[in-house]
Amino acid sequence: MTQPVALPDLAVGPACEPGEPVALDETVTRITAPNPSIMTGPGTNAYLVGTSEVVVIDPGPAIDSHLDALRGLIAGRRVAAIAVTHHHRDHAPAARLLADAVGAPVVGLGHDQLDVDVAITEGSELAAGPDVLVAWHTPGHASDHLCFFAPASGWLFTGDHVMQGSTVVIGPPDGDLGAYLSSLERIRDADGVRRLAPGHGRVLESPAAVIEAIIVHRRARGTVVLDALREHGPGTPAQLRPFAYADVGSDRDVVATATCWAHLRALVEEGAASSSSHRDDPEAVFTATTAA
Ligand SMILES: [Zn+2]
Repeated sequence: MTQPVALPDLAVGPACEPGEPVALDETVTRITAPNPSIMTGPGTNAYLVGTSEVVVIDPGPAIDSHLDALRGLIAGRRVAAIAVTHHHRDHAPAARLLADAVGAPVVGLGHDQLDVDVAITEGSELAAGPDVLVAWHTPGHASDHLCFFAPASGWLFTGDHVMQGSTVVIGPPDGDLGAYLSSLERIRDADGVRRLAPGHGRVLESPAAVIEAIIVHRRARGTVVLDALREHGPGTPAQLRPFAYADVGSDRDVVATATCWAHLRALVEEGAASSSSHRDDPEAVFTATTAA
């Protein structure tokens, strides 16, 4: 069974070293949290956007040294907002602590696992010094996922919608593959996006090429999952995972099973599979409904 090809690496600029701020241009500074792992790459990136007035995007995990580093970078500047791309624990927990420290509101779409002071949505605008950040609702990796677009500079802050060096996990029921692909197509086709600033890893140039490669990779994985279902099904996501993700090691078993489930749900939506149970049951048994 063929496996999807690896994504091209179109990263540019300095590497992500935890605790070392990097000025990406006159208005954007990145600092990486000290939480490297197989899931977070070199760690979670926080971004300061603006000059004398800034928006902080994704303050990250609640690690004292990282909060101290963020406060040092802010030093004397007004924080207009602390913007959170989504509720996951490697992106959001420091938001409340930083908000209390600097007297700024936490803004995000809102989620039962993330309290925000100001709920924003598709098209909301945040003043960030000379630029403005426009929120784009990009569900898929998480239901509350936002990207932030700076029209004047062309930066798109992608959170976990696009990562450098890895595909992202789509974990149902909060994650949804169909929504994810639609959100990818939306940013691939958007005007004015010149560079991607991901939540994990380095800056990515050639945004349309990067995103198209991710879409192709995902579609190829969908074919592999359907082949696995036809050959080895019926089965649950956990039973099918070894065949659908044979190229992914046991150290990523949980996320491979979750994303396998996301693909099986998408196959049901496409009419290529049926499920023994409701959509949000991780133990559902899936069956192929079409022959190869
Ligand atoms: Zn995430």
